Amino acid sequence: MTKGNINVSVENIFPLIKKFLYSDHEIFLRELISNATDATLKLKHLTNIGESKVEYGNPQIEVKIDKDAKKLHIIDQGLGMTAEEVEKYINQVAFSGAEEFLDKYKDSAQDSGIIGHFGLGFYSAFMVADKVEIITKSHTEAPAAHWTCDGSPEYTLEVSDKAERGTEIILHIAEDSTEFLEDSRISALLLKYNKFMPVPIKFGTKTETLPKPEGAKEEDPAPTQEVENIINNPNPAWTKQPADLEEQDYKGFYRELYPSQFEEPLFNIHLNVDYPFNLTGILYFPKMSVDMQIQKDKIQLYQNQVFVTDNVEGIVPEFLTMLRGVIDSPDIPLNVSRSYLQADGAVKKISSYITRKVADKLKSIFNNNREDFEAKWNDIKIVIEYGMLSEEKFFEKADAFALYPTVDGKYYTFEELTNAIKAKQTDKDDKMVILYASDKDAQHAYIEAAKGKDYEVLLLDSPIVSHLMQKLETSKENISFARVDADHIDNLIKKEDTAISKLSEDEKKSLDELLKEVVPSEKFMVQLEAMDSSASPFMITQPEFMRRMKEMQASGGGGMFGMGNMPEMYNLVVNTNSELVGEILNTKTKKKQERLINQSLDLARLSQGLLKGEELTNFIKRSYDMIK
Ligand code: ADP
Ligand code: MG
Repeated sequence: MTKGNINVSVENIFPLIKKFLYSDHEIFLRELISNATDATLKLKHLTNIGESKVEYGNPQIEVKIDKDAKKLHIIDQGLGMTAEEVEKYINQVAFSGAEEFLDKYKDSAQDSGIIGHFGLGFYSAFMVADKVEIITKSHTEAPAAHWTCDGSPEYTLEVSDKAERGTEIILHIAEDSTEFLEDSRISALLLKYNKFMPVPIKFGTKTETLPKPEGAKEEDPAPTQEVENIINNPNPAWTKQPADLEEQDYKGFYRELYPSQFEEPLFNIHLNVDYPFNLTGILYFPKMSVDMQIQKDKIQLYQNQVFVTDNVEGIVPEFLTMLRGVIDSPDIPLNVSRSYLQADGAVKKISSYITRKVADKLKSIFNNNREDFEAKWNDIKIVIEYGMLSEEKFFEKADAFALYPTVDGKYYTFEELTNAIKAKQTDKDDKMVILYASDKDAQHAYIEAAKGKDYEVLLLDSPIVSHLMQKLETSKENISFARVDADHIDNLIKKEDTAISKLSEDEKKSLDELLKEVVPSEKFMVQLEAMDSSASPFMITQPEFMRRMKEMQASGGGGMFGMGNMPEMYNLVVNTNSELVGEILNTKTKKKQERLINQSLDLARLSQGLLKGEELTNFIKRSYDMIK
């Protein structure tokens, strides 16, 4: 047997890093600015603990384009490097100075916000540059150093005359990457990745308008001046304590995140946890549009204030991806290129923490200002209902604040609802029947009929509500939902005082035969009911079960029942106590009977929106003929 070490030579590894480690070339800027930020934060830490004697001051990072010379400069006022440190940190690929620093100052530097991790970021510069220079002066007395490398593993290191502390990185932009010499490109990149980084970043200048001097004429232009353009907000709201922020601050930060968004957010949730993992952030409930897909990818993920991605799949539970805002966690495992999340146990923990936190916050908003919560319910219900369906933990918590509005604009929690209807709405098996409407206008007649009997009718109109009802029916005991036009309420709800039939058994039998001759049996199941004489003579209903299955099929998920296409099948409920039905029976000629039945059937279909096209045209024509 032979044993040995695989020999990795730099010549082979170097091009690999350059080409394949980072799929996105643009991230070189993020990496270099992260290093400049680290260098500044390290110096801050060292001055804080007295290990550096220099004046910390107000350090900045500057990005400068020299278009003619095809150079891009990144200049910081951080702790700099001695020649020995350049040898150690730069020449050793995959040795992370950031990690070494965190190890060395384990106890004190935990929260210093140092970004670096893998010791590979610096080399991403070679993705866009064919030569890179580092001119750096350490915060110590050591002389400045000048390192140059053209992308081959050879480099030069000499003494430099740089006098001020800090590091300047000079990229000689390669022929195929000249886009990175454009102001607009760099400015867009800085805004994408560095907008909230903790050290001020200067890029170019901007024109500022000054107040007019006293005595200036109306037509005189206001004076202007060129000022430094700081592109970032080093203290974004999520890094602050919730206690230090007002409602206005949250709204202001929302505008900072989504400058083109006019609409104000409905609620915000400030996340702030440091055990067992570190995570901060602010989530916003926006006003939801009907198209849920468009809403996605609005939450941004940061690590130590560096933008990572706006695809938070996995970290944020699916139902909350409709929200907006930021999450910042150094503990979310990313791969070396920081772009793809690595799914593992830690991520799951974060996801369930976020779920819990969102539920708790919703509950406290509900408790503190129920009126406001009710007013916003329609805009947030889709998220909450979706969460109740997809996350069991959320379902349990949401029981305290999920609302069930009535057609009259009352809002019940589930418990309040069951208390309100307990006595009056039970079926033959003493199961509670929760009546609901999905469309106030279309189901108006049925709603009125139910209200006439003093029943509560909910208005449940979100697209996934049939799934939610199914879920509630299986997790709550002894309840069932029924749409107001599903079967007849008198069938659904146990009534002691059922109306007595005016028709004899014989009359009923001949009515039944007559109806079966005229009404197409493949579409309607005829039911004779002795109802109140004032109730409609003919009513069309669809069995709750059948309609809901169809709805669930339409909104996805129906497939799992393996039903294929279900036929359109309705009940035709005929009120044997109505005057009209009595008249139909007593009409002498068959032809006239048929006409009355068809006209009544069409009226019933019309009220359910089931009469369309040619049938509707014929109905209207027939009706005009009748009143002529
Ligand atoms: P990482 O940031 O993960 O440690 P990098 O490859 O990005 O790895 O950088 C390697 C090391 O080079 C850093 O850890 C740091 O010690 C040093 N370095 C890079 N840029 C700077 C800078 N602007 N100022 C001071 N040191 C720097
Ligand atoms: Mg780095």
